[in-house]
Amino acid sequence: RDNKIVTDKTGTLTHGVFTIQKIATQDGVSEQELLTALYAAESLSTHPIAKAICHDVDVKSLAAKQVNYKEIAGYGVQTTYEGENIYAGNAQFMKNNGVKAVNEEGIGTIVHCKKGDKYLGYIVLYDEVKKEAYDMVKLLHKEKKEVVLLTGDKKENAEYIKNELGIDRVYSELTPDQKTSILEKEMSSTNKAVAFVGDGINDAPSIMRADVGMAMGAIGSDIAVENADVVIMNDNL
Ligand code: ADP
Ligand code: MG
Repeated sequence: RDNKIVTDKTGTLTHGVFTIQKIATQDGVSEQELLTALYAAESLSTHPIAKAICHDVDVKSLAAKQVNYKEIAGYGVQTTYEGENIYAGNAQFMKNNGVKAVNEEGIGTIVHCKKGDKYLGYIVLYDEVKKEAYDMVKLLHKEKKEVVLLTGDKKENAEYIKNELGIDRVYSELTPDQKTSILEKEMSSTNKAVAFVGDGINDAPSIMRADVGMAMGAIGSDIAVENADVVIMNDNL
């Protein structure tokens, strides 16, 4: 066995450019109400999910109206807008905030939303795999390097990418801390160097911890780039 590369998914193996495919509101909630809440919550986030949601929105003026905004890496965002608490993020994030949100089956990234005490519904977003990701995995395998995927995204999306690209191992639904502890396990099971490549705030601790930390320069968050040994300026794998 040779060296291995541990990689993030969203924004690293995929473009991180999401498009909204579906809007699913709860009974009695309009699409406009759900979207307005999501726009507010995501207006201050630089996550690829937030960029997709706020694509056609004047984020500057909306962002100025957010109070106590917080981004919880690997989970979602929360804010107070016009006196109401808004939470936007994955099912686990909803659960942590007292809402039992159910993910619909299939691939796609789901962003659930809660406003005040009310669960408003969710949207489904899709993201494309980078073309060169296929070549990257093939080349690494030819060089006898293992490829391990760590993602905060849900299991179905992670398995899909694993099968699509022929990745060796995958760990999904990880918090930033869990990403780093799995990276450490992967590092202690080999005496060869281990590289980590990622783009997000949640990847920064792993980028710092790996023997070689790599960051996506264009889509990557500042903290990922600042902690990297190698920055891929054009995000091309
Ligand atoms: P990855 O590890 O694949 O790059 P992240 O750790 O950045 O993904 O995000 C993991 C999950 O956390 C996302 O799939 C999403 O469900 C949720 N999430 C993170 N940031 C946000 C956000 N700004 N808005 C909504 N959901 C988010
Ligand atoms: Mg990422």
